[in-house]
Amino acid sequence: MRQAVLTEPYNVILRDVPPPRELKPNELLLKIHRVGVCGSDVHMYYGKHPFANTYPMIQGHEYGGEIVRVGSAVKDFSPGMKATARPHLVCGHCAPCLRGQYNVCQNLRVEGCAGPEGSAQEYFIIPEDRAVHIPDHMTYDQVAMIEPIAVGAHSTRRPGSLEGKNVVVTGAGTIGNLVAQFAVARGAKKVLITDLVDSKLDIARQCGIHETANTAKETLADAAKRVFGSDGFQVGFEAVGAQPALTDLIAGVENGGTVVIIGVYVRNPVVNMGFLGEHELNVLGSMMYRHEDYLEAVDWTAKGIIKTTPLISRHFPLEQYHDAYKFIEAHSDQAVKVMIDVA
Ligand SMILES: [Zn+2]
Ligand SMILES: [Zn+2]
Repeated sequence: MRQAVLTEPYNVILRDVPPPRELKPNELLLKIHRVGVCGSDVHMYYGKHPFANTYPMIQGHEYGGEIVRVGSAVKDFSPGMKATARPHLVCGHCAPCLRGQYNVCQNLRVEGCAGPEGSAQEYFIIPEDRAVHIPDHMTYDQVAMIEPIAVGAHSTRRPGSLEGKNVVVTGAGTIGNLVAQFAVARGAKKVLITDLVDSKLDIARQCGIHETANTAKETLADAAKRVFGSDGFQVGFEAVGAQPALTDLIAGVENGGTVVIIGVYVRNPVVNMGFLGEHELNVLGSMMYRHEDYLEAVDWTAKGIIKTTPLISRHFPLEQYHDAYKFIEAHSDQAVKVMIDVA
C-alpha cells in the first residue's frame, strides 16, 4: 500500500510498504478515503510545531474511511460501514486518565503528530474503543472533518452554558469557524467572529455565523460595540494562537468573563496577569476532545447543524500530498481546509 511520509520539514514523499498486519481481536481495518490537513500538520511541515517535532512522520489525524475487516472480538462495527476514530493514545493510569480527563493524559500521544503513525496511507488500523459510527448519508469530507468539529464541541463546553451569552471568536479558520458554529448551536445570544481575511468571514457567514468583523479594518472594541451594543460579551474563544488576538479578547471581555484558549501559540504570548486578577477573568485551556465530543460532532454534523462544505478549499490526490502543502503555503491567508483524496 502507499503512504505519504513527512521525512523532514518541507519534504513529503510517497512510498510503497507491505499491506497492514493481521488485526488484533479489538481492531478494525479502515480503507482510508479522505484525510484532512490540519493547522498542526502545517506547523510540523514547517518544522515549527511547539511540541510535535518527530520525523519521519506519517501524518493524518483527521480522516474518514470504510471498514474492510474487523477483529474477532469486534461487536459494534462491520465491514462496509463508514468510520473514523479519535487519534488519542492515552495511558489509562495517570491521575487525569483515572478521573476521566484522558484528553489531558500525562502521557498523551497523538497519532500522526508526536505519536506513532497517522492515516495518510491507503489502510489504517484503529481500535474499536476509539472508533465512532458514521451514518451512511454522511460524505467522506464530513467524516474527515469530525476531528476538528470535535474540537469545537469540546471547547464550547469548557465555559459552561453559553445560553443567552454574547460570544466572540477570534480567528475564522477551520477551528474558529467550527467553534463559532457550536456557540450558535449551543444557544449563545450573539456570536461575533473576527479575522484579518475577508474571504474567511464570507465562509463564516455561509456557515450561519452572521456577525463578522475584519480586525484589520475595525478594532475588536468597535466591532463588539457595533454588534453587542452596551451588553458587551461574556465569553471569548481565542482560535488564532497569536498575541494580538489574545490581547484584544482579554481587554474586551466583560469583567468576570471567560476566555478559552484554543489556538496553538508558536510564540509564547504575554498576558497582563494583574488585569486578569482585577477584573476577575477566567482563562480556560481546552485540549482536543473526549469521546462524547466525537459522538456529538457526528450527530450534529449528520443533522446539518454543523456545516462543513464552505470550509473545504481544495482536494489533492494522495500522490500530490506535497503539492497540498505548497498550495497551503502559497495561499496561507485564504486556504481553510485542504483535503487529501486517498481513495
Ligand atoms: Zn487537527
Ligand atoms: Zn494517562
